[in-house]
Amino acid sequence: MTQRLPALNQLLGGSTNQPQGRVWLVGAGPGDAELLTLKALRRLEDADVVVYDRLVSEEVLARIPAGTLALDVGKTPGFHGMKQQQIGELLIDLARSGRNVVRLKGGDPFIFGRGGEEMQQLQAANIVCEIVPGITAAVGCAAACGIPLTHREMAQSVRFITGHGKAGKPQIAWESLQDASQTLVFYMGLTWSAELSQQLCCHGRAADTPVAVIERGTRPDQRVLISTLAQLPATIAHHQPQSPALIIVGDVVTLYRAAEAQHNEKEALTAHG
Ligand code: SAH
Repeated sequence: MTQRLPALNQLLGGSTNQPQGRVWLVGAGPGDAELLTLKALRRLEDADVVVYDRLVSEEVLARIPAGTLALDVGKTPGFHGMKQQQIGELLIDLARSGRNVVRLKGGDPFIFGRGGEEMQQLQAANIVCEIVPGITAAVGCAAACGIPLTHREMAQSVRFITGHGKAGKPQIAWESLQDASQTLVFYMGLTWSAELSQQLCCHGRAADTPVAVIERGTRPDQRVLISTLAQLPATIAHHQPQSPALIIVGDVVTLYRAAEAQHNEKEALTAHG
């Protein structure tokens, strides 16, 4: 057991003398609290402790009952910059002290969320760990701006790709992304967007392939920037989108324009009675 637990025990009101607790790795979705699953909500309501990430929206955090201890392992003073290993140890400590723990992660725990590593760490410590899936950013953001990720005659498959490699620069087999009928969704792609644009153009994607950058998707202040592969670096430099943002590349992005145009048309019709 680590040295953090005495302090935590104080926060929690002492040791429970309960049998070992369990951990639920719960997906919080992309931001809109309505996109939580019923199971996620129920687990949040039943938890003794919730350990959450910086990606989890305020709106979702507001669903945690007032009396439940919620620990922000992204930025709470004292927990600042916790390493993955330490987060796993914290979950283990809490479960061993008899608490039922919800580990709340943005989107889906198993899509670029390092949920797999936490699950392995818990399993190695013989802690029961259950997974509650969440709506991943690609699916939530695409829905929120009317871009179908697959579409007959336009996109027969979709790839979820991390735009951030282990050492920063993305490690991607670019030649595997040249098929124009494949929609590409880049997570964590902002920093290396110029590299993405250049590599995709060099590896057979047309320079005028439409691209959408969705900032804070599904949240009240969501912003969508429409560009092309060649123009992407300039669009990003000009509008300065901030994390969290997702980059969708492929012909399906043209349907956003269609959806928007239809919306504007409807508004115009309504305005003109
Ligand atoms: N497990 C998460 C992804 C974690 S990686 C999931 O399944 O969604 C973090 C990246 O996810 C961010 O850098 C961003 O690219 C993307 N992301 C998460 N939430 C987002 C949101 N609301 N809007 C846009 N992108 C989002």
